[in-house]
Amino acid sequence: MIEDLVRKDIESLRFAHPYVPKKYINLSQNEPLRGIIGDKYATRYIGPHYYELKDRLAAYFGLKRENFVITNGANHGIDVCCRCFLEPGDSAAMYDPSYGPYFMIPMINGRSVVRLTLDENFEPDWSLFERSDAKMVYIPNPGNPTANLLSLDTIREGLDTGKVVVVDEAYAEFTDVTAVDLINDYENLVVLRTFSKVWALPGARVGYTIACEKTSDYLELSHIPYHMANPSLKLAHDVLDHQEEMEQLVRDTIELREELREGLRALGLHPYPSYTNFVLVEFPKEVDASRIFHELLERNIFVNNVSGQPRIENCLRISVGLREENEALLRELGAVLEQWADSFNTVVR
Ligand code: PMP
Repeated sequence: MIEDLVRKDIESLRFAHPYVPKKYINLSQNEPLRGIIGDKYATRYIGPHYYELKDRLAAYFGLKRENFVITNGANHGIDVCCRCFLEPGDSAAMYDPSYGPYFMIPMINGRSVVRLTLDENFEPDWSLFERSDAKMVYIPNPGNPTANLLSLDTIREGLDTGKVVVVDEAYAEFTDVTAVDLINDYENLVVLRTFSKVWALPGARVGYTIACEKTSDYLELSHIPYHMANPSLKLAHDVLDHQEEMEQLVRDTIELREELREGLRALGLHPYPSYTNFVLVEFPKEVDASRIFHELLERNIFVNNVSGQPRIENCLRISVGLREENEALLRELGAVLEQWADSFNTVVR
């Protein structure tokens, strides 16, 4: 029962947030008399329910508005789960290598984090979570920085622990696997989604959680009221009319991603399979990925240095860019590797 997992004091935050239909003369919100710079989306509060976007999402997923909580990006979804489920003294778990905010956000909230490790295939051993003190786990699917995809059976095994499982699906539209299909089977499941990736609105900061109605109801109590900016909500609402462009963006990204992986392979490197818009690439052991990262920086190319994390000690994470950006990366990387081979008299390809 989800009631047993929710923070005990959350229920006391349930005070009436009336929904005010437009026909009312609304003198309840201390709103300004008129706009000054005339942005019609910003001169009124439109929260706290955000029904318009929820209804749009409900139609998109074939669910109900009650299954959604609108968040400031998926990062805020991580925060909302932390606030909803973790009492003082409770901890969250994450499986390294993973996404940094799963560690940062509970810490900001004064909660501790149990660091578990994925196995050599980047899969979670759920018995580690089950045996740990952690009440909740954050698991990205597809993974970041691993870029791999866990099956729904694997997610189900996590849910069968009875603890809270937060499946972060920031990149889910690059696959056809989604835990959204499980929300009505598991009250302990929360799915995080975002408009930042395939919907191409990272600057708008809009995301949402998807869960069964009961769990969503508790999540809705766990964030500050009126947290969303109207212009951002409008952008998110409007972009959902552009399904075809979104699908084309996904196809274009996948094409460039596979070209990038091919280019990395041609340099003698090991790019992992990817179900995202980035590539995790492993360097041969005689080449230090961290030094490559700095050499690329010198050449005005900024990738993500994930080396040093367990299981990916000698890897970099590279976002898929425009074709010319990927070509520049491959060209400079090739030059750095040549230089490396010359200076260390080591054959790297
Ligand atoms: N989760 C994962 C796994 C991510 O990779 C990212 C962004 N890099 C986020 C969440 C954050 O997304 P948002 O911009 O919606 O906060």
